[in-house]
Amino acid sequence: METSRHSRVLIVGSGPAGYTAAVYASRAMLEPLLVQGIQPGGQLTITTDVENWPGDREVMGPDLMVRMEDHARAVGTKIVSDHITSIELAARPFSAEGDSGATYTADAVILATGAQANWLGLPSEEKFKGFGVSACATCDGFFYRGKEVAVVGGGNTAVEEALFLTNFATKVTLIHRRDKLRADRILQHRLFENPKTEILWDHTVDEILGSDSPPGVEGVRIRHVRSGQTTVVPCAGFFVAIGHSPASELVRDQLETHSGGYVVTGPDSTATSVPGVFAAGDLTDREFRQAVTSAGMGCMAALEAERFLAESDG
Ligand code: FAD
Ligand code: NAP
Repeated sequence: METSRHSRVLIVGSGPAGYTAAVYASRAMLEPLLVQGIQPGGQLTITTDVENWPGDREVMGPDLMVRMEDHARAVGTKIVSDHITSIELAARPFSAEGDSGATYTADAVILATGAQANWLGLPSEEKFKGFGVSACATCDGFFYRGKEVAVVGGGNTAVEEALFLTNFATKVTLIHRRDKLRADRILQHRLFENPKTEILWDHTVDEILGSDSPPGVEGVRIRHVRSGQTTVVPCAGFFVAIGHSPASELVRDQLETHSGGYVVTGPDSTATSVPGVFAAGDLTDREFRQAVTSAGMGCMAALEAERFLAESDG
């Protein structure tokens, strides 16, 4: 196996931001190399219907990402199945180490590492991960056919997961810490109309309850935020859908970041605090975090990388 590969543009990440950057950089004849990471296709591969990707009234998330990958390959992007474990941005050419042992050097870097699911941080959550606790209804919903499940969260992901789970479960309880959801109105409407769902407002989750042998979830103990009263919600599956955090560990010490870890980029730009390093998508987006906005930023990053290389390399 090749141990060192140089490219003009190294793209880290294979979500909508990474693949869009790849399409634009390839068409600019920059011959980019894209490292996919451990989730080829990114977050949309763990969802079902995407209904807000322009041009497709409805498209399955995984299918959309296969199409983006095909597009990037067709225009000449070199796509590598590897995960970057460290990156050095202090001097050009930039260099990165892959989990495979390969070293990647590049004249410009586009970071598009997206975001990862947040967890509640309870010891019982850790104990039952993979044994009834999940952050992906699309991946694990099927196991709960004919059973009761609970979801925690109040955003688009939580409501979509709850709705998806009604395809399998007999009952889906949504537990939310406030008395209002932040999910889109259309999703809220579908949730309220679904006879299989119940919403428990103003509750936090204290503990996930279950058996040790065989390991499995049997319920969650929740607490009312004002009265402090606790209740047990029986369920065989518990889905955590409380948002995502930017995957910026690789660069937190090298690039300017916001308090939540989102990489800071210039106004109307994907330029980071290091010239030649660009960041796109959920990694840098505290506000919108959508497939289409990520793709838009991927486009910007490739165009800005092209301009940077033209100006710096003559
Ligand atoms: P991501 O999609 O997060 O991709 C990040 C990529 O970086 C991955 O390929 C990963 O493998 C790679 N990576 C990470 N670290 C490394 C590393 N160290 N080395 C190499 N590669 C690395 N948005 C919508 O617009 N419509 C929807 O219907 C919708 N539904 C959603 C449903 C769910 C369940 C979730 C979780 C999100 C949904 N979103 C939706 C949001 C949307 O998925 C994200 O906004 C979008 O995927 C972000 O794209 P991205 O390219 O920035 O990053
Ligand atoms: P989000 O919008 O950040 O919502 C997170 C939810 O979890 C909030 O309701 C929050 O409560 C709750 N929460 C956070 N921490 C918690 C904790 N410790 N305990 C209990 N509850 C907690 O995250 P998301 O739903 O994953 O969405 C992320 C982004 O992807 C959003 O921009 C979203 O629009 C996008 N997305 C879009 C679609 C779509 O367009 N169809 C689908 C999925 C995701 P509070 O409300 O009280 O803060």
